[in-house]
Amino acid sequence: MLTAARLRPPLCYTFPFAMTKFATESVMSPEMLAKYEVVIGLEVHAQLLTHTKIFCGCSTRFGDAPNSNVCPVCLGLPGTLPVLNKRAVEMGMRAALALNCTVHEHSRFARKNYFYPDLPKGYQISQYELPLATGGWIEIEHKGETKRIGITRLHLEEDAGKSLHDGFAHSDEKTYVDFNRCGTPLSEIVSEPDMHSPDEAYAYLTTLRQILLYTGVSDCNMEEGSLRCDANVSVRLRGAKEFGTKVEVKNLNSFRYLAKALEFEIERHIGVLESGGRISQETRLWNQSSGRTEPMRSKEKAHDYRYFPEPDLLPVHVSSAWRDEVRRSLPELPTAMRARFVSAFGITAYDAEVLTGTQALADYFEAVVKAGAPGKGAANWMQTELLRRLNDSGKEISASPVGPGALAELVTLVESGKITGAVGKKVFATMFESGRTAADIVAAEGLGAQVSDSAIEQAAREVIEKNPDNVAKFKSGNEGVFKFFVGQVMRATKGQANPQAVNEIVRKVLAE
Ligand SMILES: [Zn+2]
Repeated sequence: MLTAARLRPPLCYTFPFAMTKFATESVMSPEMLAKYEVVIGLEVHAQLLTHTKIFCGCSTRFGDAPNSNVCPVCLGLPGTLPVLNKRAVEMGMRAALALNCTVHEHSRFARKNYFYPDLPKGYQISQYELPLATGGWIEIEHKGETKRIGITRLHLEEDAGKSLHDGFAHSDEKTYVDFNRCGTPLSEIVSEPDMHSPDEAYAYLTTLRQILLYTGVSDCNMEEGSLRCDANVSVRLRGAKEFGTKVEVKNLNSFRYLAKALEFEIERHIGVLESGGRISQETRLWNQSSGRTEPMRSKEKAHDYRYFPEPDLLPVHVSSAWRDEVRRSLPELPTAMRARFVSAFGITAYDAEVLTGTQALADYFEAVVKAGAPGKGAANWMQTELLRRLNDSGKEISASPVGPGALAELVTLVESGKITGAVGKKVFATMFESGRTAADIVAAEGLGAQVSDSAIEQAAREVIEKNPDNVAKFKSGNEGVFKFFVGQVMRATKGQANPQAVNEIVRKVLAE
């Protein structure tokens, strides 16, 4: 007989991830923590960006009326048969290849049997013995060093529906079920236990998310549950060969929760071991309001699910031609793009990391440089003025009122000395608010269209050369003729030079 606690589904946690860096607060002494080595592996479920479900033609759109995107197949009605969505396999391949996995020619779907109200068939179609891809890796940056984290496997599966416990007329006595999510395609990405701190787990999840976004495999929208994460964590005495007993932590619905839950769990493990106790292998849930993990159920083993090959689907066959075609369609990935930005545009590694934060940001930067702005100047203006104002106004880069061409014009005006940096900032503020161009604002508001010192000097030399008589007068002590030179230089620079600068430069050249 199954206990109530074991009826919880493995896939029932959809909460927003929040991109917030965390602070480590430890109640344990550094000496105590240093005695142990932490071992962490992550399982990430990413919803694949297909229009239709993995085994039927129902829409995968988020937010539609409950139970409106359903059909006999995804409701698991008797007599129906699933048909594999080719696009879902292709999306899985894109992710697998970007994660340096081997995509297998033959893979197979399996039935994972468990009972839960949001799983109408009574089983989930997943991949088990023969996953789509295995043996990959990604590189993470941590404390200024690059570290490789292994990817054990990437497999395809269908999502379950959603149990809704609040917000309805009889929620106090009933649970409602929405089957819209049933059959939505997921890729489950399992890492090797290669991470040794919450920081590394954070860096891994960040990097993985970025790759999935760049490849267009998933929108990774954490608020809509498109990206979900479970962590396997254990500790062992430093130098020990055997792994410690691992605990799976679920409900890690934000980057911050992931870090906090890992910190809590690491200290709990060490506390138990130090007091002579044993860690029991179990699944725990992160409870954000109490700031603790809590036991959920004893960890189910594979045999609990009674896996067997899915009899209603043919094995999946991926030809090498198809695999190569998908590989060719992959975009430049963030790591390669960062290296190229540094070498081609002369910006720092830090700048490159910020500017490749999203594909949209990277595209914008490249467009600014293409429109004629120097790389360093473009990088500086984007990271200071542009990102700050976008952030303050809650706008995405794609909705920026200042386009790449317009920013390039402003950066060029500043870099060529036509306007000062301080004037440039004022001009940028007006551009952002009004959508007008820099040249337009500078002309209309008489912001000097400041002429560079070298241009003033050149004009001064020309004026002086053409007027030897007045030079002689000036040199013989006629101070009044100085105004003549200033006037001529102002005319030559169309009144756009800074008068103070013209005065100083004319006096300097006359004194030569
Ligand atoms: Zn359907």
